[in-house]
Amino acid sequence: KPVIVIVVGMAGSGKTTFMHRLVSHTHESNIRGYVMNLDPAVMTLPFGANIDIRDTVRYKEVMKQFNLGPNGGILTSLNLFATKFDEVVSVIEKRADQLDYVLVDTPGQIEIFTWSASGAIITEAFASTFPTVIAYVVDTPRSASPVTFMSNMLYACSILYKTRLPLVLAFNKIDVAQTSICFGVPVLKTAVFIQWMEDFETFQAAVSADSSYSSNLAQSLSLVLDEFYKNLQSVGVSAVSGAGMKDFFNAIEASADEYMETYKADLDKRR
Ligand code: GDP
Ligand code: MG
Repeated sequence: KPVIVIVVGMAGSGKTTFMHRLVSHTHESNIRGYVMNLDPAVMTLPFGANIDIRDTVRYKEVMKQFNLGPNGGILTSLNLFATKFDEVVSVIEKRADQLDYVLVDTPGQIEIFTWSASGAIITEAFASTFPTVIAYVVDTPRSASPVTFMSNMLYACSILYKTRLPLVLAFNKIDVAQTSICFGVPVLKTAVFIQWMEDFETFQAAVSADSSYSSNLAQSLSLVLDEFYKNLQSVGVSAVSGAGMKDFFNAIEASADEYMETYKADLDKRR
């Protein structure tokens, strides 16, 4: 059975560029991928999609017909598409033997997918049939301060608890992520992040150095997040340079195994 990889992340974090990179990587490595675009508002897709929401719903027409703004238009388009999602699942089921991965791009605005009924319907339709993993793309250069980093991790944490699916953190744009000095040695930001995730005391030290008013809150929350970090995989990637692709697919494989051990068992129990 193919593993479903649902790519989510804040607007501008690089989901679409990352998808393009994943698609090129599958072509180069003889991995059999199936590609799906769920962003109705994207103007041009840099990659070829096997299933494209834009072939079924016309977002501009939906805006006019229901008298909606851009966000309402995207959400309503996704709702319309979700009503037919069982058809999408059966198309993939028919090809299951010939596929390794199904790569799914989601709308630019993260909450449209992660906090909507249709996002939940689509995620559950996948997860009840195939091993499904969430790839949370992080804009690494933009998460440089400990407090921004923590806000981003809290968002990822909320997605983990909402979907209850294995999560891979993809720290994107490592080609431009600045280095910082750690014990006199320049190290890549992602290395610092991973250290923060592995040892909350290093994170607390970084927060203490930050004089912003929310530092105390960040100190307490870092203890909560410590538990969250134990449940996920994280990798540094660059959608532009192609760095980290092997690590990413390894993390997806490990997460797919975790899906089989925990999520699937959970689902069977509920049935
Ligand atoms: P989306 O809204 O999450 O789909 O983000 P896009 O894929 O449209 O990317 C947003 C911007 O980030 C674009 O200008 C991309 O060129 C840029 N970008 C994406 N990935 C990378 C990366 O790995 N490195 C760099 N330097 N820029 C990137
Ligand atoms: Mg996009």
